[in-house]
Amino acid sequence: MNTREELMDLLDQVKRQLINNQEIGLDAPILSANSLNYLRKGLQLDKEALKENFYCNNLEELENFISTCDQCKLSKERKNIVFGEGPPDARLVFVGEAPGVDEDLAGKPFVGQAGKLLTDIIKAMGLTRDEVYICNIVKCHPPHNRDPEQDEIKMCLPFLEAQISLIKPEIICAIGRISAQSLVHKDFKITRDRGQWQSFKGIPLMPTYHPAYLLRYPQAKRSVWEDMQEIMKKLGLKDPRGLSD
Ligand code: SF4
Repeated sequence: MNTREELMDLLDQVKRQLINNQEIGLDAPILSANSLNYLRKGLQLDKEALKENFYCNNLEELENFISTCDQCKLSKERKNIVFGEGPPDARLVFVGEAPGVDEDLAGKPFVGQAGKLLTDIIKAMGLTRDEVYICNIVKCHPPHNRDPEQDEIKMCLPFLEAQISLIKPEIICAIGRISAQSLVHKDFKITRDRGQWQSFKGIPLMPTYHPAYLLRYPQAKRSVWEDMQEIMKKLGLKDPRGLSD
């Protein structure tokens, strides 16, 4: 055996050991994203068993890891995976529910009408889009703009958790019902519970209305602005219009 063959043989044994461990009910090991990708290639290993057991060193590695993801049925019709964008050390992360049609085509989050409104909200806070991180609960566009389903959220949420743990923001803003229900509690009611501080993995989280809702119900803009002022206070930002204390 040459060195390459020895290495391939060793890898094959590792794969077999993983399958055996899985069969006798042992937890899957924590692997780097690259190792996990490698092991999954051509392997009859249950993806479900390994899906949460990965680590990435940075956002780039995580994005690369997700780039071929087919863990849920949303992979079938998507044009692009919408990973998210913003500085890797953003103090504030906005989390929406799922990419829409425009986002699916552009591969970027919040680029449609609702995205323009979100950009205006960010500006009103005295920030720019370049200073915040924007992403979604699921990374692929649900067909016909339907809500993402529970199994899709369950499969995709570990990616968002990894994203958040790499960014380590001071505050998360959950945008809309689905986002708040996924990050806070499944019984979360956006009309009843928005505007009240929650927490996700120990990070303060402010739930607010989705900009798409504001396009339909502009009278809700005042509530969103109150929620943004709460965030600004926590971040130590002054109201650029001098309207808050
Ligand atoms: S929505 Fe998430 S879990 Fe489903 S295919 Fe896209 S990246 Fe993978």
